[in-house]
Amino acid sequence: MNKKLVVFTGPSAVGKATIEKHLFNDESLKLELSISATTRRPREGEIDGVHYYFISGEEFDKKIKNNEFIEWNEHFSNKYGTLKSEINRIIDKGNVPFMEVEVIGAMNILENYKDEETISFFIRPPSMKELENRIRARGSETEEEISERMARVYDEMTFINKFQHVVVNDDVMKAVENVTNIIKGNK
Ligand code: 5GP
Repeated sequence: MNKKLVVFTGPSAVGKATIEKHLFNDESLKLELSISATTRRPREGEIDGVHYYFISGEEFDKKIKNNEFIEWNEHFSNKYGTLKSEINRIIDKGNVPFMEVEVIGAMNILENYKDEETISFFIRPPSMKELENRIRARGSETEEEISERMARVYDEMTFINKFQHVVVNDDVMKAVENVTNIIKGNK
């Protein structure tokens, strides 16, 4: 692969994680998830060093000061960031770092790399109404939280043109096929 990094973004609840699971099952792509550092607490079943590096706010701030992050951002009151050491670890193994980050973080990454070094994806919902339905169907948020989330999504959608590839997540398997073909086409 000529490209060094895959940057994968899109509004939350758009279904990025489901697409990713399929991508990582395809060994020929040699993708390896870049494990981010975060100050948020682990959810049930999440393992330190597998899903995230779970660190304290203090540790996180120290790493910011030491310039250890490629990018970091605050998301729903927690900090998330991509460590330079993590990207190097993956490249040294001969794999391709795959970064799943929220939209602003993804834009910050793109600013630090040349266009030809990255394959960037923005995963979008079939429609805003459909995304709202999906969030509502999870039933975990209040009306106020849903409105806040949707306002953020509208904001994030304005950056869609900054990404090299826009893939609609209507049918998951079709989205997986599209992303796979794009990555393979960059080899
Ligand atoms: P969650 O808390 O649900 O795991 O993730 C919340 C959001 O943080 C998601 O949109 C995810 O893409 C984003 N995120 C995860 N890792 C990083 C990172 O390293 N940097 C940034 N900017 N966002 C991240």
